[in-house]
Amino acid sequence: NEQLLLQSEKLKLAGEIAAGVAHEIRNPMAVISGFVQMMSTEKDSTCYAYTEIIQSEIERINLIIGEFLVLSKPHVEQLKVVSIDEVINNISQLFHLEFQKHNITFSMHIVSDNNRILANENQLKQVFINIIKNAIEAIEAHTANGEIIIYIAKDAEGLNMVTITDNGVGMSEALIKRIYEPFYTTKSTGTGLGMLITNKIIQEHGGTIAIESKINCGTTIKIKLPQAEN
Ligand code: ADP
Ligand code: MG
Repeated sequence: NEQLLLQSEKLKLAGEIAAGVAHEIRNPMAVISGFVQMMSTEKDSTCYAYTEIIQSEIERINLIIGEFLVLSKPHVEQLKVVSIDEVINNISQLFHLEFQKHNITFSMHIVSDNNRILANENQLKQVFINIIKNAIEAIEAHTANGEIIIYIAKDAEGLNMVTITDNGVGMSEALIKRIYEPFYTTKSTGTGLGMLITNKIIQEHGGTIAIESKINCGTTIKIKLPQAEN
């Protein structure tokens, strides 16, 4: 327990430092980006071939900074009663083209009524974006017949329960143990921040995450969240 406390203190401090650094980095990055854009329109520039690489690396840095800023945001703010069904339906529409592109069958099953939570809607969206993105990436690396299935239900205690199952590459026990570590990624273009942020948001909403996975079979992420009072 003490270890956990220390870890969360460390994480909090890291978040604060990250937020400061992120703001400081963003300005020079914008300037660099502007000049690279100018260079890329210059026909006789010998640097022409490199500008694309520079731009894509800048984008990558911006992605990491963006995720850092989410991480370091203060505790749950702007709470309102949110329909979990609507949030997930919304997000799945965002991914519609991605599903098509990777031949992924997506289905969503709403098993219980009144699935509502007091939440910061944007943060809740972020959670399902991160998880579905991981599911797509796990499928992409593994099978041409992908499937993502979401259930929205209530557990025995009346908590909202969302399970997201994919038939992707799966994870070893050792990988699952490290999944919330900052920068821990097995992908060449990953940031290793997605699940850390997901976990932080769920915890701040009074919820829990459990992961079940089997290598070469797939993964189920089970999220429990409190029910909003009427
Ligand atoms: P990133 O996606 O940038 O690598 P995440 O924190 O989202 O970072 O995930 C960390 C690691 O956990 C991933 O690199 C991947 O190895 C593993 N992972 C997460 N979700 C899944 C999944 N649904 N199936 C298989 N592996 C996963
Ligand atoms: Mg991810």
